[in-house]
Amino acid sequence: MDCLFCRIIAGQIPGNFVHQDETMVAIKDVNPQAPLHVLIIPRRHIATLNDLSVEDDALVGSLFRRAAAIAKEHGYDERGYRTVFNTNGEAGQSVFHIHLHLLAGRGLEWPPG
Ligand code: 5GP
Ligand code: ZN
Repeated sequence: MDCLFCRIIAGQIPGNFVHQDETMVAIKDVNPQAPLHVLIIPRRHIATLNDLSVEDDALVGSLFRRAAAIAKEHGYDERGYRTVFNTNGEAGQSVFHIHLHLLAGRGLEWPPG
């Protein structure tokens, strides 16, 4: 298995888990870009958003609903937070197993860099 996130999900590499269920996990980002920086990751390996099919619609919806729940648990639901999928090179995707970034706890600039 050469995918970093598949290895974390399998328990072969440690992760700081904030949520786990049958379809996804959520872990703290090892290099946080905000006071709260969590990655919400489906257990199934999907390389990029380009690889999604209609059967994945409910899964993707559940990733966003989990992000909202984690933001609320940490008290950021009203203050605000950002959810981002990076896809391929120009967006800076570095791990090719889709993951929804949840960023909160500081003012976030727009447009992003
Ligand atoms: P991407 O650049 O693909 O959108 O996001 C990959 C994210 O994974 C980065 O924010 C990076 O800090 C994070 N990351 C890379 N390696 C590890 C790791 O071993 N553990 C955790 N928890 N996060 C990682
Ligand atoms: Zn994977």
